[in-house]
Amino acid sequence: MTVTENPPAIRTSRPEIRPGQLFIAGQWREAADGGRLDVLDPATGQAVTTIAAGTAEDVDAAVTAARAAFPAWRDTPARQRGRILQRVSTLIRERADEIAAVESLDVGKPIALSRVVDVQTIADVYEYYAALTHTLAGEHRTVGLPAHAYTSREPLGVVAAITPFNFPLILSSSKLAPALAAGNVVVHKPAEDTPLSALVMAEILTDAGVPAGVVNVVTGLGGVAGEALLRHPGVDKVAFTGSTAVGRHAAAAAGEGLKAVTMELGGNAAQIVFEDADVDQAIGSAIKAFVFNTGQFCMGGPRLLVARPLYETVVGILSQAVGGVPVGDPFDEATVVGPMTAEKHRAKVEEFVRVAREDGGRIVTGGDRLDGDGFFHQPTVIADLPNDSRVVQEEIFGPVLTVQPFDTEDEAVEMANSTAYGLAAGLQTRDVARAHRVAGRLEAGIVWVNDWAMLDPAMPFGGVKASGFGREYGPEGLDAYTRTKSVLISLA
Ligand code: NAD
Repeated sequence: MTVTENPPAIRTSRPEIRPGQLFIAGQWREAADGGRLDVLDPATGQAVTTIAAGTAEDVDAAVTAARAAFPAWRDTPARQRGRILQRVSTLIRERADEIAAVESLDVGKPIALSRVVDVQTIADVYEYYAALTHTLAGEHRTVGLPAHAYTSREPLGVVAAITPFNFPLILSSSKLAPALAAGNVVVHKPAEDTPLSALVMAEILTDAGVPAGVVNVVTGLGGVAGEALLRHPGVDKVAFTGSTAVGRHAAAAAGEGLKAVTMELGGNAAQIVFEDADVDQAIGSAIKAFVFNTGQFCMGGPRLLVARPLYETVVGILSQAVGGVPVGDPFDEATVVGPMTAEKHRAKVEEFVRVAREDGGRIVTGGDRLDGDGFFHQPTVIADLPNDSRVVQEEIFGPVLTVQPFDTEDEAVEMANSTAYGLAAGLQTRDVARAHRVAGRLEAGIVWVNDWAMLDPAMPFGGVKASGFGREYGPEGLDAYTRTKSVLISLA
């Protein structure tokens, strides 16, 4: 199978990207030592541009700029901050096609997906937190003292936003929008493989009226720029999204500095298909859950647990349906599955497929990389693996679905909860009581019933267990960037 097998459809042209610089104190500048990194197009494997490789010195400059900007931004009336964030949302919608093209070029995600999901989501997120600036409030408390007592909510100060490669726009907006709404200032370190949309967002934030120094972007390597940011004494909060391994390290480093933390880490969600499920709907949902963003989706559903009477039927339908999912150039409007973002991620998927074969897995469809340029891998379905296989237990983070049978509701819940992770989970059933019962028993920060990946800025998400702690989105996402002060005024 080759990438060119899909019928040609309407194709958007690839954007020209100029070399990226750091954005510090409202100015574009080179890294202190002039270092640069290549940025690759995952569909071709070729470099499309370079970015500045920020150093500890650059991080220090960014944190210093943010600290200097903090008092004025904190003291800007919340409604005015809200107006600026609303303008950010408007500018995102105006530049939607351009932003989507940058994200697709950088991540390799299908252009239709970038446009409809990523760009719309961030416009909604900025709009949502613009509105929530009206809700920032403390409260009067009744106390047993002769005192007028109230609480107020204050911003934390300088936020280090460290984001992963897979949803650069969405996972930076889920930090920047609430942080700015609450009056914080930000130093953003995007992933080294997908830094481009963060630079476009710096322009948009500036055009919308975010003052110089309030948002700074330091591109560069995690072990250099990221590490310096984690450890900088001028940072008050670390908002990290990424792998569990780096998250553990980041949480420890932040802990040493007694910084506030939010940790959004890895996932390995189960989708449970009960015997009473609508099978067509369950299969549509199952496919969406593992091919979405080429499986590079922390809240993807790579483990399909199917009631034994439906098992072979579901495996059979999946083998047909998944084989027909259009894989190809992200700039082809018909593409559903693009390349993986980097060769190292594809190599990891290939290693998992090799282990699956060793562990007795039946490769129902897919199982190989695609010939030709770019980091493509076939959507792959693997049946019959034992639950203790590494392929079931670990996060694959690619277009791979394992399918396993279960016999009872208890067994399904036990299997779903059997990995170290707890980010998302889902179930398919027509039985309302079972839906509530099982949703309550699943160890996950978000549970979907009869669909997958229903996300909205008003609904918080985040992990339990090795998937981390803290919540993004919703009012909880705003609370995560404030602290409470108690004020008591003597009436005596
Ligand atoms: P990663 O952990 O490799 O990198 C995440 C970020 O951390 C990047 O910006 C990277 O440069 C930086 N980093 C790396 N080493 C660092 C260090 N020593 N100090 C400071 N920063 C450092 O993750 P990734 O491969 O980019 O993303 C994939 C992972 O992210 C998956 O595990 C996925 O499940 C997870 N993820 C979680 C969520 C969520 O909401 N829970 C969302 C998306 C992705």
